[in-house]
Amino acid sequence: MIEAIRKIIAFSGDEKERIYKAIIISFFKSLLSMLRMAAIYFVIQAFENGDKSMKPAFTALILITVSISGNVLLKMAADLQSVHAGYYMSAYKRLDIAQRLKKVPMGYFNDNNLGEITGIATTVLDVVENQGANVLVNIMSGLMNAVVFLIYIPFFDIRLGIVVFLGMAVYMLFTSSMEKKTRELSPVRQKNQAVLVSKVLESLQGMSVIKSFNLTGKGDEALRKAIDGNRDSNLALERLFIPYGMMQGITLGIFKALILLLAVLFYFNGSLTMTYSLMMIIISFQVFADIEQTGSGLTVLRVVSSSIEEADKVNSLPVMDEDGTDIVSKNYNITLQHVSFAYGDNEVLKDVNLIIPEKTMTAFVGSSGAGKTTMAMLIARFWDVNEGRITIGGRDVREYTLESLMSQISVVFQNVYLFADTVENNIKFGKPDAKREDVVNAAKKACCHDFIMSLPDGYETVIGEGGATLSGGEKQRISIARAILKDAPVIILDEATANVDPENEDKLTAAFGALTNDKTVIMIAHRLKTIRNADKIVVIDSGRTDEGTHDELMENNEKYRYFIRLREEAAGWKL
Ligand code: ATP
Ligand code: MG
Repeated sequence: MIEAIRKIIAFSGDEKERIYKAIIISFFKSLLSMLRMAAIYFVIQAFENGDKSMKPAFTALILITVSISGNVLLKMAADLQSVHAGYYMSAYKRLDIAQRLKKVPMGYFNDNNLGEITGIATTVLDVVENQGANVLVNIMSGLMNAVVFLIYIPFFDIRLGIVVFLGMAVYMLFTSSMEKKTRELSPVRQKNQAVLVSKVLESLQGMSVIKSFNLTGKGDEALRKAIDGNRDSNLALERLFIPYGMMQGITLGIFKALILLLAVLFYFNGSLTMTYSLMMIIISFQVFADIEQTGSGLTVLRVVSSSIEEADKVNSLPVMDEDGTDIVSKNYNITLQHVSFAYGDNEVLKDVNLIIPEKTMTAFVGSSGAGKTTMAMLIARFWDVNEGRITIGGRDVREYTLESLMSQISVVFQNVYLFADTVENNIKFGKPDAKREDVVNAAKKACCHDFIMSLPDGYETVIGEGGATLSGGEKQRISIARAILKDAPVIILDEATANVDPENEDKLTAAFGALTNDKTVIMIAHRLKTIRNADKIVVIDSGRTDEGTHDELMENNEKYRYFIRLREEAAGWKL
């Protein structure tokens, strides 16, 4: 329990002061509630003594008014603090996650970790948000209340005090074994929740495939399984609580009955006055209510603490630039030196050496799956090489902070991703402080101004998530406008084959031209025109590379000849 409390306090960071404040305020609230007992005491005593004056009633009224209004005010003050702490500590964590994810190597997202991260950012932190600070305040104030009232008891009757104490002990015994069980089940439940989130995400993203292949009956089996798993672990947790909850209820019931019985008995055998006997009953019932509050708080505490453990997993995310420095390159020559790279066991590049002089255009060619995209991504450090090194401007890409590296590189991806935001903000993504007129200029250069203007709200039109409301060619031109606006000295273009129709092709060529002017360009090219125009062509085949100009490669490289012949045939066929 102490450990769990410590965990929450550590997690709360700068918000811990608010949690402390809330607890201190709750302490005064406990003190105030003693006044209520005093009021009851005066009234009962007046009854016992047959005092018919209004004095005890008035005293009681004043005490109760002070106690209740003070309680309301203090509760409000404590809640304000703990609610603030809960929301802020979760918000900080979410921002922290967002920051970290930017620095995580792409491989991390391969291993199905998306569900886990999404789960943490949503449901797991929801628990912390709503309960994180409250639960501490509830437990502490329950305890403080109980202690305050326990102090009262010896003044009335020590024998009943012992019974109350015993009742508390038995109750806490059940609570602590329930808490232990929760500790075992909580991680399972979280795991299942993560699986569910990732399956839901996957189904939504793949909805068009599910529809088009008519898998609606079958394809969602995995999703259904995940839903069932999540339901089962939630039910298991609840089922687990039931017998313990029952035992707790029975314990309190028995001890309450016992105290009633004894209080009456002691009154009749003359060892307790009526006032004392009644006060003992009221106080011990109050103590039990407080201990119940603490007990249920402890179970929640366990859930919160395992949520925090889960959320803290992001601290161990592999982050790439722990020790980078902000570097502004003097030149943009790029070299690959003895670079090898594998995705797990799938070796994609083997001992590749390559020099890309600045302000030239280099084309990567090779069959599908040869490793063109991979090589380009390594240069932009989306992954780290397994062996060898990649330099830009003579410095290893691992020496740069990711920020300074990315400020020098623009990537136009094979699969363009656009955010569910306005066209303008999508273009401004790499340069958020750009003016509207710069955005329009970039869009004009990328040949997308006209179609943007034909959208319902022009540049203010909101694009569907992932660019769902635009055509492939339109998306690509917007992403080129994005790169033109960013104006980075190194450009990586992963040309998409599928989106090129003749009408679009001219526009795209013009757009690429505007983007690559006077830049160091790496182009993953499929079209003959682009390939022929390159200063250097790199053929990737079975993990090795060969390089040269078009003419050189036509002469020396079998694979390249074959590749070009295929293109020519395809082009001929098109005409
Ligand atoms: P294409 O012309 O079809 O785009 P490519 O030359 O760009 O092909 P890459 O995307 O670099 O090929 O892929 C090279 C190899 O690495 C392929 O065998 C592919 O299956 C594998 N691969 C690509 N991306 C990943 C990834 N994220 N995780 C694991 N393996 C991958
Ligand atoms: Mg590719």
